[in-house]
Amino acid sequence: MSAYEDYSLESVRNIYCIGRNYRLHALELGNEVPKSPMVFTKPTHSLIPMDGSAVELPGGEGEVHFELEIVLRAGRGWEPGIEADELFDAMTLGLDLTLRDVQSRLKEKGHPWLAAKGFRNSAPIGPWRPYPGLAGLEAADFALLRGSEVAQLGNARDMIFKPDVLAEHIGRRYGLGRGDIVFTGTPAGVAALRDGEELSVLWNGEKIASSLVSLV
Ligand code: ZN
Repeated sequence: MSAYEDYSLESVRNIYCIGRNYRLHALELGNEVPKSPMVFTKPTHSLIPMDGSAVELPGGEGEVHFELEIVLRAGRGWEPGIEADELFDAMTLGLDLTLRDVQSRLKEKGHPWLAAKGFRNSAPIGPWRPYPGLAGLEAADFALLRGSEVAQLGNARDMIFKPDVLAEHIGRRYGLGRGDIVFTGTPAGVAALRDGEELSVLWNGEKIASSLVSLV
């Protein structure tokens, strides 16, 4: 199988995100652990590279929470029976940034999450690397550092719905094509960003990307 060779952010098509895919994170926000994948989307305008530069985020709409997530990219189109290890060709770490106070209000009203999850720059992502397969994902821990302090530490072993289940669920219902990406959910430890702090993401102990927070 040949990999899809366009790794630019402009090549990303649909952005799917999975809510509550780690038990301890679901519980820390007082949510139930879901029985099937909970899927939402972000506009492609939410993407921004984690290249060490400042990421401008809304500073006047309550707390902006970080959610560190493994992000998978489909290198070809989903079809029934395809294995996740054949479908996904690249991975990285990314942040599913969330206006948490806005989200709480939307949840109370039963409204869609776009305003809380889909704002510009709400999806900073690191550089793509080859997808190592589920076994490769589970062989490495991933972490988010705020400055030098570990804020989140996760491992794909703790995902409730693994990449094969996510691919089948999304592909069958919504379609999953080349260039689509999936934020696979966050482990526990989410919290509010502070203006001016540096966020670094680590894969298997190696820093692969960073951003500076700018609340404006
Ligand atoms: Zn998330």
